[in-house]
Amino acid sequence: MLHPDRLFPSDPTQRAIARRLYSEVSALPIVSPHGHTDPSWFAKDEAFPDPAALFVKPDHYAFRMLYSQGISMESLGVPRKDGGPVETDSRKIWRLLAANWHLFRGTPTRMWLDHAFETVFGVTERLSAESADRIYDQIEACLRTPEYRPRALFERFNIEVLATTESPLDPLEHHKAIRASGWKGRVVTAFRPDPVVDPEFEGFQANVEQLGAITGENTLGWTGYLAALANRRRTFKEVGGATSTDHGHPTALTADLSRAEAEALFDKALRGTITAAEAELFRGQMLTEMAKMSLEDGLVMQIHPGSFRNHNPVVFDRFGRDKGADIPSQTEYVRALKPLLDRFGNEAKLTIILFTLDETSYSRELAPLAGHYPALRLGPSWWFHDSPEGMRRFREMVTETAGFYNTVGFNDDTRAFCSIPARHDVARRIDVAFLARLVAEHRLDEDEAAELAVDLAYRLAKNAYKL
Ligand SMILES: [Zn+2]
Repeated sequence: MLHPDRLFPSDPTQRAIARRLYSEVSALPIVSPHGHTDPSWFAKDEAFPDPAALFVKPDHYAFRMLYSQGISMESLGVPRKDGGPVETDSRKIWRLLAANWHLFRGTPTRMWLDHAFETVFGVTERLSAESADRIYDQIEACLRTPEYRPRALFERFNIEVLATTESPLDPLEHHKAIRASGWKGRVVTAFRPDPVVDPEFEGFQANVEQLGAITGENTLGWTGYLAALANRRRTFKEVGGATSTDHGHPTALTADLSRAEAEALFDKALRGTITAAEAELFRGQMLTEMAKMSLEDGLVMQIHPGSFRNHNPVVFDRFGRDKGADIPSQTEYVRALKPLLDRFGNEAKLTIILFTLDETSYSRELAPLAGHYPALRLGPSWWFHDSPEGMRRFREMVTETAGFYNTVGFNDDTRAFCSIPARHDVARRIDVAFLARLVAEHRLDEDEAAELAVDLAYRLAKNAYKL
């Protein structure tokens, strides 16, 4: 299924260069500095139950496409919040995926899954209604063997380091267990404070109280609240090996308010009387507070703005968050980031990595910002744009203004464990294809392109995230 020249340029000169560059990076270890795999997999090292549990139920890329064509989430085994009945027969769920495999033509999901089927499970035929049961049996048989346990796969995938993402309220028990187990695989956490810094997050008030209980700080006051956040950041670093924070706000707005103004917003947030505009301002203030803490504790800051979360209330009420109903919206950075940059933009010791779901901002706003401010770096193409065309557009739109060294390599940002090698392989292939064009057009020497290929595939992520 996998052609050795896939994603390389079709022009023979460029293709030959791309092949040579790819040979420099194809076997490099994977650095995965941002993602959402479940740390309990590596703590417990239990076998993945079956193909549907591995490939369908946790992957919103898979079920959002099926759902868009009228296939119910229940029939795909996605658990309901009210515990209502959903399909539990994994083979039936698998057959449903297989019968609708054509829906994924031309999508990165198809590339990732084909890559995993072939390279991880040795499947050599295309998934279809006809082949569904044979492929199911083959994958299920693999999953019953020790070579397919999470830790063995982690080693086989040649992952040097993998970051998960946890809420400040997470006790980090799985990360502690991984460290205590003596296993040498490196899994670290990342600090994602949205549940306690976003007044519109479900259960905000209770979350802030819980933050107080965990840290022994009085989080009902501004000083104690900030101290509790600093405390959890420290624990995330020391206990979970965190090197970064992650912030998933609806916009990139930042603010630099007086203490009195910030306190007043915080009080309203706790009392539940905060307006939508004030909640937005409070989130903006918290980004600036987080940047200040990053300057002190060295955690690299990631801002992932611009997703309208839980756009579909029916799906949210029935199934909860992260069910493929998050939709990108237009995102402005130049004015939004100014308060934060006025305070901290010139700090070379601070690293703030910016992401976008709004590609129009790349050449207009993000590349010029990252190509100037020492504190800023540009994250790779993200989520809907973590795709061959999205990565190509990213390089084309940002390189001439920001260069390569204001970017930070690749993030797989995935919940789907078996897609990690596939996603990194796609990124490496697209990057060498881009470099091959520059070499063929005599804009770059091939030895420089070879060094860059390694930087983009490996070194930049390691350096930017301090891994
Ligand atoms: Zn993420």
